Amino acid sequence: MNSTTNEAPTAPIQLSRKPSERGSTGGSPDAPGRGKTACIRTFGCQMNVHDSDRMRRMIQDAGYAEVQHYEDADLVILNTCYVRENAVDRVRGHLGELNRLRSEGRVKKVALTGCIGAAEESQSLQKTYNIDLVLGTHNTYELAEFVGLPTMRETYTPELPGTEGEHSAFVTIMTGCNYQCSYCIVPTVRGRMICRPMGSVVEEIENLVAGGTRYVTLLGQTVDAWRYEGKRFCDLLEAVSEVAPRVWFTTSHPSNMEDRTLRAIGERDTIVKRLHLPVQSGSDRMLKVMHRGYKAERYRRKISVFREAAPEGSLSTDIIVGHPGETEVDHQQTLRLVEDCEFDSAYIFKFSPRRGTEAADLPGVVPEAIVQRRFLEVLRGIEQNAFRRNQRKVGNTEEIFIRHGATEDGKAIGETWSGHAVHVDTGAAPGTYVKSTIESAGPHVLYARERAS
Ligand code: SAM
Ligand code: SF4
Repeated sequence: MNSTTNEAPTAPIQLSRKPSERGSTGGSPDAPGRGKTACIRTFGCQMNVHDSDRMRRMIQDAGYAEVQHYEDADLVILNTCYVRENAVDRVRGHLGELNRLRSEGRVKKVALTGCIGAAEESQSLQKTYNIDLVLGTHNTYELAEFVGLPTMRETYTPELPGTEGEHSAFVTIMTGCNYQCSYCIVPTVRGRMICRPMGSVVEEIENLVAGGTRYVTLLGQTVDAWRYEGKRFCDLLEAVSEVAPRVWFTTSHPSNMEDRTLRAIGERDTIVKRLHLPVQSGSDRMLKVMHRGYKAERYRRKISVFREAAPEGSLSTDIIVGHPGETEVDHQQTLRLVEDCEFDSAYIFKFSPRRGTEAADLPGVVPEAIVQRRFLEVLRGIEQNAFRRNQRKVGNTEEIFIRHGATEDGKAIGETWSGHAVHVDTGAAPGTYVKSTIESAGPHVLYARERAS
């Protein structure tokens, strides 16, 4: 995740079963899907990765074996993202390919789920590509019936189980969003915010930890807006930090981010010292047009609290370039904010008009050539800062959590307590910690070698 990109953040797919069970089929011997295969393709953010996990559990319970290639699958599930137009174009490409495989008899059924499934556009896609099942984000439970399981009335909210049994797990603490940012389709496709009870979140995490989970990520569109029966997000984070060996959360909204939470990140040993706080723009005028609800100065102040609380921590953000009406002065203000905040990484997005959002109809469309130049200027600013900050880490010895074991080149992928991504020479297994010395650094990744003990 420590990258700079114009694509939505993605995370490795988490398998819902323990590693020892990978590749096996679940369900009883007479499960309806026994002997059949399914392939799940996930697009977009961690919420989608998490939804895919839940669907994976359904198909496994129905007896399907999971396969990695479309041509080996009886059922293909495309779990989609709708945040930018190019996401839809990508999905169209996959649907075209699936139609071809279906005409050759290699794929039997296709399901379209996730944010595109929840959008109006799904109806025309269903007709054009002859899709067998279209589900939005609120009725993924209907997949269970589709694969032959008894009807499961799952509400996609309170008591939803997260990922089980892996060394790291996503746990949804809230769904939907109560903001109405000018450019964003999320409130339309995910609905208004619903928070999960604290007891249910903590209990789930206790069970996950008992099953071997070492790293918990609390998920939601604006996790810091979480409230339940008088409790606020920081109460929940503190409670989770008591039971999880390692916890991180994403994503947050600057208007909800409390100083208390920022201090807790620095104070609590089990909280990863990494903050992802999307700013979108450094211009007060644009922040107002976007309905973000804060000014750049307030954002800067939050960042100074975070830097003071966790001086070695890492900070990332989201920035949109080329929102309608963005002038050169607005853009310069964004560059200044990038300089001031010294982000360690950022997701930079070119504005993409989404039908049904306010910004899609706003005047002042910024020409593509200007958007591209602004994109590169922000990227350069972010990378320069990130490179400078990462260089300071060279020579340090850090405890690294191994996320993915070594590949053929002997390098595993891990994460420091400051949330920096590290390529490390080690044979250590995922879910374990290794003490390593940082030998070099690029703008996106640190390179380390395990210390001989
Ligand atoms: N809830 C988070 C927040 O308020 O910052 C962000 C969630 S959104 C799914 C992820 C990011 O996608 C946003 O922070 C924004 O930068 C980007 N994004 C959303 N809609 C976009 C659009 N229409 N064009 C370009 N980028 C967009
Ligand atoms: Fe979208 Fe804004 Fe809600 Fe984030 S806070 S999900 S950008 S509407």
